[in-house]
Amino acid sequence: MNIGLNRIESVSPADEAALLDCENELRAVVENGFRFLKFPSRIENLFYAHDMPRRRKRYLILGLVSILLYDIYCFSDMIVLQDIYPTAWLIRLAVVTPIMVTIMLLIYLRKCVRITEALIGSIVVLTALSILVMLLLSNDPNEIHYHTGILIIIIFGNIVVGLRFLTALVCSIIVQALFSALLPVATSMPLEAIINHSFVLLTAIIMSLMGNYQMEAELRRVYLVSLLNRVDSIKLARSNRTLEQLSISDPLTGLYNRRYFDAVLEREWRAAQRGGMPLSLLYLDIDYFKLYNDTYGHNAGDRCLVLVAAVISSAVRRPYDVCARYGGEEFIALLPATDAARAGVIAEKIRDGIAGMCIVHEGSEAAGHITVSIGVAGGRTGNMSGPHSLVEAADEAMYTAKRDGRNRVCIMALNE
Ligand code: GH3
Ligand code: MG
Ligand code: MG
Repeated sequence: MNIGLNRIESVSPADEAALLDCENELRAVVENGFRFLKFPSRIENLFYAHDMPRRRKRYLILGLVSILLYDIYCFSDMIVLQDIYPTAWLIRLAVVTPIMVTIMLLIYLRKCVRITEALIGSIVVLTALSILVMLLLSNDPNEIHYHTGILIIIIFGNIVVGLRFLTALVCSIIVQALFSALLPVATSMPLEAIINHSFVLLTAIIMSLMGNYQMEAELRRVYLVSLLNRVDSIKLARSNRTLEQLSISDPLTGLYNRRYFDAVLEREWRAAQRGGMPLSLLYLDIDYFKLYNDTYGHNAGDRCLVLVAAVISSAVRRPYDVCARYGGEEFIALLPATDAARAGVIAEKIRDGIAGMCIVHEGSEAAGHITVSIGVAGGRTGNMSGPHSLVEAADEAMYTAKRDGRNRVCIMALNE
């Protein structure tokens, strides 16, 4: 799942559903706030999925920067830790740097994804520890200045890299504990100075953790608002789609309505003219339908219309075929790239299918059940005067079918 924050990106239907699913929870969190940098689990999962890729990218870039900065101190080692600088180099270049590079590689290759945070946190602890080890080994009088590097490491980890708060907190506690425990044995500093330096580190840790907390809280707040915006825009898009669907369809039968059909007819007419392809149209009218309504009631009439529509749409199935309810009990179907003879076959299939349902209509003079009359007009569009001439021709053919006794198909082939 990838629910973006700043970018407008497409959301898959499954993601949309997941988001809408936790809308109430989301609104409650926005209204009441969240505690201890934690969302309810479903939102937390969304946040994690959103945050982790960006975080991973940042960790990779800043990880490389930290390796560089850490190893630059080889020069400093030569000056400050003159007695042990070859060992210090060994610690930096043969122990710590390879570990850091391995961690970067693991993150780059998306291995150990679940413990990425812990791996980056371990770099903070490891680099701080390496400095304390160097202090333990060195007896150089200048070594008393070297512990300041640990302050920089803490600030870098907590603020610049921006570890998640919990990771930053745990790493800071470990570093502070190591610092307070090892500094007295590692240097010849007087106790007073050690206590002072421990307090300075503690202050740096507390301040950087406060900054870290605020940054993560802000990140989470912005994410919540963006998620809510996303929910609103998904709902808006959905209701637009519904409105659009309603505006082009007939509510009773679910087929397209006349307005939409007219627009499609114009389009397909031009396409048929350009391509020199035939275009056919079926015009269908239910026989003695007024009588059916009068006999069986309007509701029964409605049910009959739905059944008739289902037969038509199951017979008119090719991707560019379009069928619509054209008027009360009149239906129309447009068949691109189809000549009149082929359209006649489809019309006959529809007529047969509707008659075959045997919807009882005792008053019908055509049969004892519901029947339809269908006019078919089709051919190449070259000599027709316009799209509506095709409708008129099919309508005319339908009336011929009525005159000839109903329950039949009448085909009018145009300029073939
Ligand atoms: P013909 O065989 O010549 O077509 O006769 P007809 O009775 O079918 O034709 P007419 O045009 O006289 O009647 C059409 C009827 O269709 C009138 C109306 O009661 C019915 N009708 C139109 N729209 C609806 C609708 O939405 N629901 C129902 N139940 N009936 C409708
Ligand atoms: Mg009619
Ligand atoms: Mg009729």
